[in-house]
Amino acid sequence: MTAMTVVSRRGFVAGGACACAFHGGSAAAADARIAPASMTALAPPGFRPTDTDERGIWHASERLEEEVSSSELLVKSPAVQRYAKDVVDRVMGDRARETRVYVVHDPDFNASMAPNGMMLVHTGLLARMRDEAQFAAILGHECGHYLRRHSLQQWRDTKTKSAIMAFVQAGAAIGAGVTAGIGGDGRSWIDLADSINGSLALSMLRFGRDQEREADAYGVKLIDTAGYPPEAAGEVWAQLIAERRASAAARRKKYRDRSAGALSTHPANALRLADLSASSRELRDVVVTGRRYDACKARWNDAMAPIRADLLAEQVRLNDPGASLYLVNALAGDGWTGLLRYNEGEAYRLRDEAGDAARASAAYAQAVALTDAPAEAWRAHGYALLKQGQGAAGKDALSRYLAARPAANDAGMVRFTLAQ
Ligand SMILES: [Zn+2]
Repeated sequence: MTAMTVVSRRGFVAGGACACAFHGGSAAAADARIAPASMTALAPPGFRPTDTDERGIWHASERLEEEVSSSELLVKSPAVQRYAKDVVDRVMGDRARETRVYVVHDPDFNASMAPNGMMLVHTGLLARMRDEAQFAAILGHECGHYLRRHSLQQWRDTKTKSAIMAFVQAGAAIGAGVTAGIGGDGRSWIDLADSINGSLALSMLRFGRDQEREADAYGVKLIDTAGYPPEAAGEVWAQLIAERRASAAARRKKYRDRSAGALSTHPANALRLADLSASSRELRDVVVTGRRYDACKARWNDAMAPIRADLLAEQVRLNDPGASLYLVNALAGDGWTGLLRYNEGEAYRLRDEAGDAARASAAYAQAVALTDAPAEAWRAHGYALLKQGQGAAGKDALSRYLAARPAANDAGMVRFTLAQ
């Protein structure tokens, strides 16, 4: 691991250097929106670099991809992996074969695209999207970077050469022997996650403002062509801003656009939202005979159903109660479920401010009243009742948890409680 460029995940996030920086930044007033119609591919179909330096970057990406494809971080559900690839295929159209998609466990709202067509989708992105069109909007943005060859373009910017070298070295180190460490000790996959995030962030995926603006414009065009309502891109930004406000408010902080400043590499969230909205109106004005838009909400909900519990658990565990409660309430716009109520309770329990214990137990009680309550809701409800001195009802709830999860990690502890 010594040759690897390891950056801790938290440090990486705190630095705002996420791969596609859905954290926003600022932009000068003079920056103009790019018309979606003006976006055409710079990378020809089946492109492979011939330049030595570009081939180095490409090779590093391929080694990284080998590692990612067998990583412990991959979401285990083949159906979810296939679904993400299907949506990318729809967005990429006749160039679908050039990309591979990997959905990885990471609660941050992010996605990234390496120059060789490897796309990483974080579970934190899946957790936040409300329908397939919104998901496609982010994937379309990533495809925009790819089709415009942004990462190779970055190479020519001498300022980033040292960072690119770090990426190439990281790829070489991964290829050389980190694989041997996977599974050997418990820490290696965490190190791998760090190296993936760190090396991607440090290098070519830290795009500049103009590139982000191009990717935004290209992404809207791609989803429009694929038959998704182009407004979906703006919706994602509006949601992100609302979530950040809720997160800040819960910490009694004033919301401010992260990394807003003269040196920021990214357009401000509000400006991006305005540009994307203008672009979608522009696309809507172009009458294409027979075009039908569909946000594919039902398909999205079906695709996420097997991992929805994991997505929520990952988010709630971050203990960012403002963001978590915002998300739970947003999803409850389609109707409260036992799973959502349970996670609402968990968010309050973790926040642990005055009155939160009562809020949490009320949420657990509401969760178990719904037919689809997860087993964990019964456990939480049971312990909450015991705390309130309702022994019989509490033990009854804990028994229901054990009946559903007899082999749970904490089953022994719960049995011990029941025996008291
Ligand atoms: Zn981007």
